[in-house]
Amino acid sequence: MTPENIFHQHLAPTSPFPLGLQIDYAKGVRLFDREGKSYLDMIAGIGVSSVGHQNEEVKEAIKKQLDKHAHVMVYGEYIQDVVNELSLKLASLLPTTLSTSYFVNSGTEANEAAIKLAKRATGRHKIITFTNAYHGNTQGSMSVSGNENKKRNFRPLIPGVEFIEFNSENSLSSINDQTAAVIIEPIQGDAGVRIPSQNFMELLRKKCNQTGALLVFDEVQTGIGRTGKLFAFEHFNIIPDIITLAKGLGGGLPIGAFIASHKLMQLLAQNPMLGHITTFGGNPISCASALATLKIVSNPTFLANIEPKGNLIETELKHPQIIAIRRKGLMLAIELENEEKVNKLIEYCIANGVIIYWFLSTRNNFRISPPLTITADEIKEACKVIREGLDTL
Ligand code: PMP
Repeated sequence: MTPENIFHQHLAPTSPFPLGLQIDYAKGVRLFDREGKSYLDMIAGIGVSSVGHQNEEVKEAIKKQLDKHAHVMVYGEYIQDVVNELSLKLASLLPTTLSTSYFVNSGTEANEAAIKLAKRATGRHKIITFTNAYHGNTQGSMSVSGNENKKRNFRPLIPGVEFIEFNSENSLSSINDQTAAVIIEPIQGDAGVRIPSQNFMELLRKKCNQTGALLVFDEVQTGIGRTGKLFAFEHFNIIPDIITLAKGLGGGLPIGAFIASHKLMQLLAQNPMLGHITTFGGNPISCASALATLKIVSNPTFLANIEPKGNLIETELKHPQIIAIRRKGLMLAIELENEEKVNKLIEYCIANGVIIYWFLSTRNNFRISPPLTITADEIKEACKVIREGLDTL
C-alpha cells in the first residue's frame, strides 16, 4: 500500500480535502517532504512549534527525561521532578494569584476543566462567552465556541451558555451574579486576530470582580510568547482568575494546562474528591519538552525579538491585494477580498514551498504564525513567495 492509500483508508479524515503533504522530517522553520522538497513552515502547525522543529535544547531535555522515566502514574499522585519543575517555572513567570497549575493534554481539555472549576468555585452554572470565539472541539468547549455551522449537528450541547459581542462594552451588562465564568481569548484567534480595546478589557475585569464571576483567559493560542509577551494578558495589565494553555507550551509535544490560585485549585480535590482527573495529564516527557521550551521563550531577549519579527512580516507584505493585516507579535491574520482568493493564494504558496493556512471560520483571511525562532532572512524568503502569489490573484 502507498502512504496515500494508508492515509485515506486507515486514518479517519477531518475533511474531504486534506493537504496531504508527505512529511519526512522537519528542522528549524522548514519541513521536508519525501522527495526532499522543503517548505517554510509559516504556521508552526498551528501555533505549536514555537521554538522551531527539532530544537536542540528541547530534544536534549526529552532524551534526558526518557532515560529517567516516561509515564508512571495518572496526574496528581506521584511527585515527579520534571512536573514539579514545570509548575515552579510557570509560577515564577506568572502573578502570585496564578501559582498553581493542573497539567492536561490539550487546549480543549484545559478549557473544559476551567469551566468545571468555575462551576465548582461559584456554585453557579451560567457561562458567558463571545461571538466568534474558538475554545475547542469537545462538547463543553464547543458549547462556548461560535460558528453555529460546526455545532448544529452535535446539539444538544451544554446549557446555560450565553454569547455576547466581543469588544463591546455594552454587552458586559449580561455578566451578573448568576455567571460562573466569562471565558475569553484575550486576542481572538480563529475570529481572525481580533484585538480588544484596553478599556473593554478593564471593564470586563471590573464586571467580573463586581459579580463574582470568574474570568477565564483562553491563552491556548496567544500564550507562550506568540503575541510578543509571554502571556497576552500582560498587554492589558489585567490578571484573569484562570488561564488555559496548550499549543506552544509543549514545544511540539502534547500538553495543556489550566492555572489558577492555590485556593481555587484546592476545590477540585474535594466535594467531590477527584473533581477533575486525567490519566495522561502531566506526562513527564511532555513536561520536559514544555520546561525546555519555556526556558527558551521566557528569556527577555527572545521575547523582545518577537514583535520586530512580526513587524517585518507586515512591512514585507505590502500588496494591493491585501485589505487588512491584524497582528500582535507573530500572530497574524491577513485579509483578502474573498475566500476564493485565499484558497488560490494558499495553494500557490504551498506549491512554491511556503506553508500558510486558513482560519476555521474567517474564510477571507489567511493565517501566519511561524516558529518564534524564524530569522529575518526566512521571513523575507517566505514573504517574497506570498507576494508573488498575491500577484497571480
Ligand atoms: N482555544 C484556542 C484559542 C485555540 O486556538 C484552540 C485550538 N485552535 C483551542 C482552544 C483548542 O485546543 P486543542 O486543539 O489543543 O484542543
